[in-house]
Amino acid sequence: MEENIAIVGSGPAGYTAGLYAARASLEPILFEGLESGGQLMLTTDVENYPGFKGGIMGPDLMQEFKSQAEKFGTKILPLTISSVKKVSEGFELFTNKESYFFKSVIISSGASAKWLGVEGEKRLQGYGVSACATCDGFFFKDKIVIVVGGGDSAMEEALFLTKFAKKVYVVHRRASFRASSIMQKRVMDHKKIEVLWNKEVKEVNGGDSVTSISLKDTENNTKEKLKADALFVAIGHTPNVAFLGDLLVLDEKGYIKTGFTTQTSTSVDGIFASGDVADSIYRQAITAAGTGCQAAMDAERWLES
Ligand code: NAP
Repeated sequence: MEENIAIVGSGPAGYTAGLYAARASLEPILFEGLESGGQLMLTTDVENYPGFKGGIMGPDLMQEFKSQAEKFGTKILPLTISSVKKVSEGFELFTNKESYFFKSVIISSGASAKWLGVEGEKRLQGYGVSACATCDGFFFKDKIVIVVGGGDSAMEEALFLTKFAKKVYVVHRRASFRASSIMQKRVMDHKKIEVLWNKEVKEVNGGDSVTSISLKDTENNTKEKLKADALFVAIGHTPNVAFLGDLLVLDEKGYIKTGFTTQTSTSVDGIFASGDVADSIYRQAITAAGTGCQAAMDAERWLES
């Protein structure tokens, strides 16, 4: 049987699309995917989601999103979509076991953490190498940790890690951060944090666990080994588009290109995109939720016509 709307992804964009589509009586089906709840599940305090003046924990916020979408009738399936095919009357979505048919699809599959790709990084993942301070920071009580990156994520990770570690280095490849000034200031003012400018991570060293990180100075090419027990990689994200193959047109950074007819429309009629998978610029929970709402409204109008 062909359903009205599939929503792929369960971050702020997906749940908001579910909420709006369900309230429009479209009986949406939402596929949660591998990382249920999306990136906010890996965050602690969210201080910039309007409506929570005292802040809210990321996982708690996502539970609220999910409950609200379900309350109005979004059917949430704990399944991952592995591919999407255009068929005569709509779209066939495949999991690793079966397939489902839909008239329209909203892609809200988000973005995932990027890795450096240096020697030792993959081998020591889970043994000191991590992309999530919230998940793994606790294991480094009174230890020395390194955060690599110069954006808001890196600042957030470094500040969070000061709760456990005795020393936090922030390693950045340039001489200035791109993070927001308030986050930069918090990092620079923190007694436990030391910033190492113009340094690239070349290798992660250690047998069973991380013992040091090899760095290279980008200005004078000198090399050094910095003793550390952990490396937290916070260098940005990649949009989760692999499961789409070459179905949709992407932008120059690899994010889904939107705005063909309506704001969230994609290059394929009947497929809409919202949240971080289609946004390399703003990437906030509030903007993802906003575009999730737009995608549901665009899909509703498209189904009507
Ligand atoms: P980002 O802003 O893209 O920053 C990535 C950082 O990693 C940059 O400083 C970049 O260096 C560095 N980098 C990238 N590839 C690298 C590599 N191969 N080796 C070494 N360094 C590398 O990503 P983000 O910090 O994840 O933030 C993404 C968006 O989410 C931003 O809009 C941010 O404001 C937002 N965000 C907001 C909050 C908050 O408000 N609480 C928290 C987290 C994220 P260069 O600067 O040299 O390019």
